[in-house]
Amino acid sequence: MSDLSSLPILPGTVSASGRPATLGVLGGGQLGRMFVHAAQRLGYFTAVLDPDPQSPAGGGSHHHIQTAYDDAQGLRQLAGLCAAITTEFENVPAASLQTLAAQRPVAPGAAAVAIAQDRIQEKSHFIASAGVAGVSCAPYAVIETVAQLQGVPADLLPGILKTARMGYDGKGQLRVKDGAELAAAWTELKQVPCVLEKMLPLKAECSVIVVRGWNGDIVSFPPQCNLHVGGILAVTEVFEGNMHAVLAKRAQDATKSIANHLGYVGVLCVEFFVIDDGSEHGALVVNEMAPRPHNSGHYTLDACDVSQFDLQVHAMAGLPLPAPRQHSPAIMLNLLGDMWFDASGQARTPDWQAVLALPGTHLHLYGKPDARSGRKMGHLTITGADVAGVKATARRAAEILGLPGLEEL
Ligand code: ADP
Ligand code: MG
Repeated sequence: MSDLSSLPILPGTVSASGRPATLGVLGGGQLGRMFVHAAQRLGYFTAVLDPDPQSPAGGGSHHHIQTAYDDAQGLRQLAGLCAAITTEFENVPAASLQTLAAQRPVAPGAAAVAIAQDRIQEKSHFIASAGVAGVSCAPYAVIETVAQLQGVPADLLPGILKTARMGYDGKGQLRVKDGAELAAAWTELKQVPCVLEKMLPLKAECSVIVVRGWNGDIVSFPPQCNLHVGGILAVTEVFEGNMHAVLAKRAQDATKSIANHLGYVGVLCVEFFVIDDGSEHGALVVNEMAPRPHNSGHYTLDACDVSQFDLQVHAMAGLPLPAPRQHSPAIMLNLLGDMWFDASGQARTPDWQAVLALPGTHLHLYGKPDARSGRKMGHLTITGADVAGVKATARRAAEILGLPGLEEL
């Protein structure tokens, strides 16, 4: 448990020994970069720990410690520099968070991150906490042994076999129709611990971001509607009426319950499915959680009075958590590395001039040196006075950028 006697850490202050108030982050990807920008805007110094000398966050931070995430000396240096520490990616070794927490406030804590890193533990937690809000998980079975593989109930098929650990952006999961395909898929996934989920009839997907403080205060962003293409988030839409009000409230209640049951501190995103259960608006199923700011929350930078990164700073530093207010309807388009190549595979520069000439466009590029297929290079948020206008601009931007699968925006 962290020693909280140093909280709150006030922005822009300097300690008696002359050290400016500094916040640290494990991981230097785009989430770390946006965290660093938010912290610096508030008046903090920042430190990033990431082994990559070209990491998106490292170059923009006052300090960049270039060691492995479990390097004892790097962690010591981070704790020495920072008054509080957070993480930007969920596969950070939970042991590193524990080491840091012995010296400084760390949010989120190692125990919550460890649960989010393992789909088996995550589902048990959901059953214990989201059920209160009337939200269930997809029917599933744990597969860690040949006996469990053979004992899978037939009604879980067709299904999706997912590795319990290290999956993201649709990686580490295979769709299976029958027992033979399931056995082959488990072999393909090297027989690591997995969960088999029943394939559900999805009507839509959404996510909710909450931020919880050390004192248990909790605030929520509105539910985001998400469209995935090829297993990767492609579009997030957030505006009044994008989701049925009863489901929206239920998703927010379930997310708060999940965070409260974990004693969570920091930014937590929970993903949901809206499934077709024969009812008019469908039913909510909880899918997975991310113990950090989330790609579906990037619109908050441009469409809300405080962003998910601002509130990440507030939570870890022990500042008050103002309820965020969305001031504009928003659509976010993810910009993947594929856009940097034409149909024949030749490198190209996307037509930013044309996109930036559109009203209400906010371009965020993460400063990654090399574009690769499926790599998140940036995002574009479109805001405007009304939903119809935002949709029209998003369609036009998607067309200019040649974003596949978004013809029906
Ligand atoms: P990841 O960690 O890669 O985001 P998810 O569990 O969120 O893994 O799965 C990725 C996507 O696959 C989901 O956003 C959804 O579109 C689809 N999917 C996952 N599980 C199911 C399911 N049980 N039924 C139907 N579709 C699913
Ligand atoms: Mg997901």
